[in-house]
Amino acid sequence: MRPAHRLLAGVLAAGALALSGGLTGCAQSVDPIERLGRKAAQKVEERRVSQATARRWGLDKPLAPAPKPPPRSLPKGAGPGLPPVLDRVPTKDKVVFLTFDDGAERDPRFVRMVKELRLPVSMFLTDSVAGPGYAHFGELASVGATVQNHTLDHPYLPGLPYEGQRWEICGQQDKLKERFGQRPRLFRPPYGEYNADTLRAAADCGLSAVVLWRASMQINDLRYAQGAKLRPGDIVLAHFRGPDELHGASLTEMTTRMLRRIQEQGFTVARLEDYL
Ligand SMILES: [Zn+2]
Repeated sequence: MRPAHRLLAGVLAAGALALSGGLTGCAQSVDPIERLGRKAAQKVEERRVSQATARRWGLDKPLAPAPKPPPRSLPKGAGPGLPPVLDRVPTKDKVVFLTFDDGAERDPRFVRMVKELRLPVSMFLTDSVAGPGYAHFGELASVGATVQNHTLDHPYLPGLPYEGQRWEICGQQDKLKERFGQRPRLFRPPYGEYNADTLRAAADCGLSAVVLWRASMQINDLRYAQGAKLRPGDIVLAHFRGPDELHGASLTEMTTRMLRRIQEQGFTVARLEDYL
């Protein structure tokens, strides 16, 4: 149960107790109920991102709250015993999913942004790139970002035999478990390139889905694999990149632009791991 729900459930239970007190003649019973209700509402309100916070990060308004996700489910596998490969999540909800890859740029402002905007982001980390900065990604994880697998060395996987692919994928499962305490469930092949051995290796390393993307974050805009707009459930690819690679833009500036494009199209951001 989410803290807010727990709190409300507690208030309801307290209300029921006070109400039964009222029935047995306690004239003061209504006030405590109202007081508790207001307090709970205030707590829930505090959990929302304020307009001022959204403005501070360059947005006109906070992201709309994501709808309650359906029970988690995975699409059909790519073959018997193989994980599904997806670039979008089957849903009618007007949500998209943000994924950030590799782990080169380590901008402390991005940690604040994720925390203050309560941004659900999934990080697909490559050991040789992100490894020297796992402490930074640990901070991101502590403010709600999730950690997923993007190989040890970022190779072009179809160029490797099965054993080499397995080493790249299982090896990163072990590293991430060691550093973050949990074995990822999702895998993204570098460059989005894979073959049958990749899928078999991913399954053998305990991964449940191979995650590609349908839209990608550019410096000023989103680029779509098909069409010219977002569709419900689209997975959006971004990279941990800094001003050197972004013509002077910072990771947070680029993320703000991306969030504005998402809001303009009437979408909000949901957590990938809540759906898969
Ligand atoms: Zn990558």
